[in-house]
Amino acid sequence: MRSLPTALRRAVRAEFSDPRCAYCQSRERLLGLPLEADHIVPTAAGRRTVFSNLCLCCRSCNGFKWRQTHARDPQTGRRVRLFQPRSQRWSRHFTWSTDGIRIVGVTATGRATVAALRMNNELIVALRELWAALRLHPMKEQ
Ligand SMILES: [Zn+2]
Repeated sequence: MRSLPTALRRAVRAEFSDPRCAYCQSRERLLGLPLEADHIVPTAAGRRTVFSNLCLCCRSCNGFKWRQTHARDPQTGRRVRLFQPRSQRWSRHFTWSTDGIRIVGVTATGRATVAALRMNNELIVALRELWAALRLHPMKEQ
């Protein structure tokens, strides 16, 4: 978020009283690291730095997403657009495994996004297990 104008950075953060990653739903206060502003469609792909193209995102999702806008659905092999937090509902594309530890993609977009952003990497899964044991996870959609 360093390169964003202050007013825009504040506007993106002000949406949430308990900020969480728009992709993996990790809560900032449980991660212990500030969430970052993600360009949903990267500026390299032609989109501007405007509110409607920004969301809050954890460092892990942001790092794995990088400049990607599309990825392969591991079930069909088709290349599909990644999840768009501003225009799509999380619960339409993802759900939690029955133990609440893993994110399951329920659409092609969901499956491709889980794979591309490695939303079930071993580090976040280990953290989710601790959060679930403390009854801090999973949270309902905001
Ligand atoms: Zn995340």
